[in-house]
Amino acid sequence: MSAEEMSLKTVEPAQQKEDVEEAATDDKTGQVEDDENSYQGSEKSAEDIPDEDAQQFESERNEAMVDDFHHSQNDSTKGPANASERRREKRQREIDNIHTDEQCRDSDSCDEDVVDMMDDVAWPLDTVDRLADPDFDVWRLGRDGMVDHIQYMYNDFGVTQAWKIPRLTLRMFLLGVRERYQDNPYHNFKHSFCVTQMVYSMVSKLNLRNLLSVDDLGILLTAAVCHDVDHPGLSNGYHSHAQSPLAILYDYKSILEQHHFAVTCRILTNKERNIFRNVANRDEILSDARSLILATDLALHKDIMDDFTKRIPHFNFSNRADVMSLLKIIVKCADVSNEVRPEDVATPWVERLFSEYFEQSAREKRERLPVTAYMDPEKVDIIDSQEGFIKGMMLPMYTELANLIKDARIYYVNPLKNALRRYELQKREAM
Ligand SMILES: [Zn+2]
Repeated sequence: MSAEEMSLKTVEPAQQKEDVEEAATDDKTGQVEDDENSYQGSEKSAEDIPDEDAQQFESERNEAMVDDFHHSQNDSTKGPANASERRREKRQREIDNIHTDEQCRDSDSCDEDVVDMMDDVAWPLDTVDRLADPDFDVWRLGRDGMVDHIQYMYNDFGVTQAWKIPRLTLRMFLLGVRERYQDNPYHNFKHSFCVTQMVYSMVSKLNLRNLLSVDDLGILLTAAVCHDVDHPGLSNGYHSHAQSPLAILYDYKSILEQHHFAVTCRILTNKERNIFRNVANRDEILSDARSLILATDLALHKDIMDDFTKRIPHFNFSNRADVMSLLKIIVKCADVSNEVRPEDVATPWVERLFSEYFEQSAREKRERLPVTAYMDPEKVDIIDSQEGFIKGMMLPMYTELANLIKDARIYYVNPLKNALRRYELQKREAM
């Protein structure tokens, strides 16, 4: 257990901690979880935020303030020259309004609003300005930094405001989700962050902010954050062959995806983590988020693609079915977007993916289950496999997106073609 996990554990009430550990253990053995004990009656205050989180906020806040101090000193007589500077000033004003943890702890008059303010984040200025770039370096961020940046995305899309999410609730929700991601080589919280960041990138670069509703932007972010929560590092195929309790529970259909949505709902049953507590149309929103999470099941890929392709010629942003079809494609593109990223960002993900695959195939051999061929180190060629995945799955899907929104070609299809050329070159060199 890492120091950070230990510090996180300290914030959990005893019952909740037991539930989390029990659930994690259960998943390793494929056991179904007991919903009876889920996250009930937890009492948590802002002071319970892990020390490590608080220290990182403080350090990032200080760095940001120093940065802006220099900025304002260099140009103290002028107003903000452009949109970027105005954003910096706005953020600085937010930073200046933050009550420090110490101030709050010392004060008896620390009401709920102030407690919410305590959770404000001094956005790291050197990274949020590049957050919409597909070549954003996701490896630069630590666990707390990823939560900060997702929180920023909810704020920037106007979701926090539209859904009236108290700041502490958003943070507690994200920490709850992060805690439920298992420490797999690939399907871990950093993968969740990558998918969410790519969704943020696609909405921003393809100018979808004004074409989609704020609810849809929130549905996209929430589905992306939660889409693999509590992934056990074993595929649907493994669960089916092993006839695991999870497979039986979900009738062998989108087994993991249904589980990810169920875990999301369990996190939301905790009032202090329920980002929908002030949302009137919560049921609709959750239902759409469920559809997006289920859409990440690659077994449904052909049906989802066919539906999207059929809609492109007459696509209408006022037609709900058209919009849902696009949202599914966005989440699906983001879910498999590693090869859109620069080589130095993408390569560690390829290594991690195959490491997880090889662990599964070793387990399948141990348990005398059918061995998944593309996960078997004795059969798979990683370069061939990646080349096939880009050609057969990624390029057609991204190209279809570009057929609807042509800017997708510049930002996503072209980098993908570069990755494909790189693999083709590597293959020729290896021959
Ligand atoms: Zn995923």
